Amino acid sequence: MPLPHAHVLEAESHHSGVGRLGLIGHPIAHSRSPALQQAAFDALGLPARYELWDTPGETALAGRVAALRQPDMLGANVTIPWKENVAPLLDDLDDSARRIAGAVNTITREETAQCIRLTGHNTDAPALDRTLDELGAWSDARRVLILGAGGAAQAALGVAHMRGVEPWLVVRRVKAGREALAKLATRLPVPEHWRDYVIALDDRSTLAAALGESQMLINATPVGVGDPGASPLPLDLLATLPSGAAVLDLIYAPPETALVRAARARRLRAEGGLPMLLYQGALAFTLWTGQPAPLDVMRRALAIE
Ligand code: NAP
Repeated sequence: MPLPHAHVLEAESHHSGVGRLGLIGHPIAHSRSPALQQAAFDALGLPARYELWDTPGETALAGRVAALRQPDMLGANVTIPWKENVAPLLDDLDDSARRIAGAVNTITREETAQCIRLTGHNTDAPALDRTLDELGAWSDARRVLILGAGGAAQAALGVAHMRGVEPWLVVRRVKAGREALAKLATRLPVPEHWRDYVIALDDRSTLAAALGESQMLINATPVGVGDPGASPLPLDLLATLPSGAAVLDLIYAPPETALVRAARARRLRAEGGLPMLLYQGALAFTLWTGQPAPLDVMRRALAIE
């Protein structure tokens, strides 16, 4: 059976130019997705151009999504602030978006004789899962402590649920944490008691006790972005993690945050956000093209050592 998303050559048969993809979000000028994706398309000799589609409002969002139905379009990525709002504008949602992450970061475009279908996927969740897998974090994991309660935390919660690992959600506003767990329960069969798994960031003794029973720590806050000295939690608390614990900071700039550096200094397995960024892009590339992503090329484009 032909892959429904093997569009690159298909699209070329409908128009003579280069196929177009892009990133929908705002602000997006700093995004690494164009470098990451263009390198992959060029390496495979696929005639496509990846663009930045700055999309500042809801009306512009509707226009961008409608434009994806044009014949030269191959698909899109979606980022802040549209990962949730874009869902109702699409024809279908993959389980990764509907159930696991509760948000869309990739749109595929499928053209048949009858219609054009736009489907929303989420590649952040499987990329997060793979990064934790490569850290050896899932083996014997029973508990993951997640810092933050936004979109990335939702993906982490969905993956934890899929893996049968219970969360602690550590937040500066307990109400936001409770809302995040309630939101998770709208798309996955979450046990009732998960709703109590929220800890205030400033409740140091409870946080220390929770870290003591966590095999994984994930930073899903932006604390540390562009600041190699900033940490989302007091770094001395890393001493309370079990010795075999794994630490994942979703921040990729800088590649090694204060949290990752401190965890490695304590001989904990630790990783920054670059592998997840790479894998989410690679998975999107495969969804659009039906081809394996050239990981080495993409890794170089992100300048991963
Ligand atoms: P988001 O939806 O805005 O959520 C951010 C969360 O962090 C919120 O819960 C927010 O709490 C909390 N927060 C913000 N500032 C804080 C502070 N000073 N102290 C404590 N908590 C704070 O953002 P997101 O989409 O989840 O992204 C979070 C981070 O993950 C970003 O840095 C993003 O770049 C990164 N990320 C990386 C990848 C990757 O591929 N590596 C993928 C996705 C996301 P409030 O509600 O109280 O503000």
